Amino acid sequence: MLHKNRIVVKVGTSTLTNELGNSKLRSFEDLALVLSDVQNMGYEVVLVSSGAIAIGANKMHLKEKPTDMRMKQAAAAVGQCSNMFLYDKFFGYYDKTVAQILFNSDDIHQEEKKENLANTFNALLENGVIPIVNENDSVSYTEIQSEERLFGDNDKLSAVVAVLCQASKLVILSDIDGFYDKDPRLFPNATLIDRIEEITEETHSLAGGVGSRRGTGGMQTKLQAAELATAQGIDVIVTNGNRPQALYDVISGKKIGTLFVGKK
Ligand code: ADP
Repeated sequence: MLHKNRIVVKVGTSTLTNELGNSKLRSFEDLALVLSDVQNMGYEVVLVSSGAIAIGANKMHLKEKPTDMRMKQAAAAVGQCSNMFLYDKFFGYYDKTVAQILFNSDDIHQEEKKENLANTFNALLENGVIPIVNENDSVSYTEIQSEERLFGDNDKLSAVVAVLCQASKLVILSDIDGFYDKDPRLFPNATLIDRIEEITEETHSLAGGVGSRRGTGGMQTKLQAAELATAQGIDVIVTNGNRPQALYDVISGKKIGTLFVGKK
């Protein structure tokens, strides 16, 4: 049984960092305000947050995003700390307590680990804590180096979290308003698709490559995430992270972004 009032929100690197590679403080602040408010309205929220490597690279004064593994993992360790500090501070303004959970999607292939994780999430949520999740990049070698991980940027992880927590909704905040019939950066006449009942091969053919320099997944990984979550009955909404207030529309059932309908 899914928890009717449980929502997982995923935010990508392009929402959390600006062109200079610095933290977008307003995004952190807006996210903290809206998620805290939504929790006050009686919902349980989980945040899946990327951005550690980009922020870490910037803090370490690296000229470019690192490409070799040890530097990436080092940057992830620095950036994760910085991100959690900002979340703790901004959520703290609204008297909320956050928790950090780092794991890799292969952790859930082991039944015992999976059960432990689910128990931890439940214990945190039952106590009004807002879990903030990221991939454990400094530990995981295989994931950070695989194509899937490199281009996944937590889209898949967010679906895994939504399934693990039995959430009823997964909201993926991107740098674009939703899923279009073609890549709007290449085709200005692209139109937004507001509802998708079934993800087919044709749907996949509409998703182009990666958008911004800082975003990493593009729409392809969001479709994969949507496939995973909708198969378990979870509604998936892709909308713009520049306006986290879109979450109010999501919970009141208004049309916003693209809704991938969970299979009932
Ligand atoms: P984020 O991590 O912020 O979600 P991504 O770059 O991973 O950013 O994904 C969003 C990008 O996907 C958009 O900026 C867009 O350029 C690209 N894209 C490719 N195909 C589509 C499509 N059919 N609809 C919308 N965006 C698309």
